[in-house]
Amino acid sequence: MSGFSANLIAWQRCHGRHDLPWQGGDAYRVWLSEIMLQQTQVATVIPYYRRFVEFFPDVVALADASEEQVLAHWSGLGYYARGRNLHRAARMIVTQHAGKFPEQFEHILALPGVGRSTAAAICAQAYHQRHAILDGNVKRVLTRYCGIAGATAVKSVENQLWLLAESLLPNGHGDEVDVDVDDAICHASFPHYALPISNFPPQAGERANESLRELDVNCEIATYTQALMDMGATLCTRTRPKCASCPVQGACVAYQTGRVAELPTPKVRKVVPERRATFLLVMSGREILLEKRGPSGLWGGLWCLPQRDEGEHEYEPGWTIGEQITLPAFTHVFTHFKLHITPRLLRLVHKPCPMQQAGSVWMDVDDALNAAIPTPVRQLLEKITTGI
Ligand code: SF4
Repeated sequence: MSGFSANLIAWQRCHGRHDLPWQGGDAYRVWLSEIMLQQTQVATVIPYYRRFVEFFPDVVALADASEEQVLAHWSGLGYYARGRNLHRAARMIVTQHAGKFPEQFEHILALPGVGRSTAAAICAQAYHQRHAILDGNVKRVLTRYCGIAGATAVKSVENQLWLLAESLLPNGHGDEVDVDVDDAICHASFPHYALPISNFPPQAGERANESLRELDVNCEIATYTQALMDMGATLCTRTRPKCASCPVQGACVAYQTGRVAELPTPKVRKVVPERRATFLLVMSGREILLEKRGPSGLWGGLWCLPQRDEGEHEYEPGWTIGEQITLPAFTHVFTHFKLHITPRLLRLVHKPCPMQQAGSVWMDVDDALNAAIPTPVRQLLEKITTGI
């Protein structure tokens, strides 16, 4: 086992995160957490994860649900393609794997919304299979630890990082570790593990000993994978990494050569396009008019407010408007553009005839808040319900 993996495992046992709700869960729960954690912070994900698992306790329950129900429980997490893919994947698991979450890497990788790193994380954490992960946090750790320059989005750099990620895995041959953990904790003979003993919780020595002496990779790959994630999230952070507490500081190229601040190489920032639109809050009593977006694309499958892009006619001919108020404008940032939104509240004298058009619905505002709606719509509805 490399010094890197041994040190990380020992560190994780003592200092890593052990109370995440999906830890120790089955492949379904690990998969769910991995998809939710793409683009989203742990603290934001936890309440969504808990609610989701309560409503959809297993893959069959998820497959049996409608897309509308899945998106309603995803509402607020953003990047809704993840929720739609999750639902498609659950149905695929039911039809192709008899409702049992697949165990083979290739089968997991074939699920919609699952990439190489996500498939590897599921294999390592749920099935203790030896696979390397390489998410954004791990890329940062490896570029620094190995001193790799070049934007990580560049294919050749990414390929190099995959090779490194594979080579740093615990090797699975039950190697002897050439360190004494008790000494390590007293930072005497463990070259890269120089934490003061006071940093360790009770039983730390015992737990670290366990991690280093039980060198069965089948047990350790999950801990190692979690260690990499924890390290990227809590120690080797984008700004102000805590190198003084890092278990691999002694061998970290960036630290040893004073290049921590310059690695990973920042990507060239593109100018983000900006668009403008009006969101219409068309109300009749406590009911609001919502329109369903098409199945793919931005906010696909979600209920949205009627949107008018610049230059578009705002009002429908059948609307008799009693009152209209322009609410404060705000900006919503998507991955590829910024949308400057001007919300306009229109109170109709009466509902238009015909009341319903294809793809649109009048919904009580409170019901709308529980429906599959994107965050900016939720924020506007909350303002309405609080009287603004
Ligand atoms: Fe990251 Fe600092 Fe550790 Fe190097 S020493 S891996 S830069 S936390």
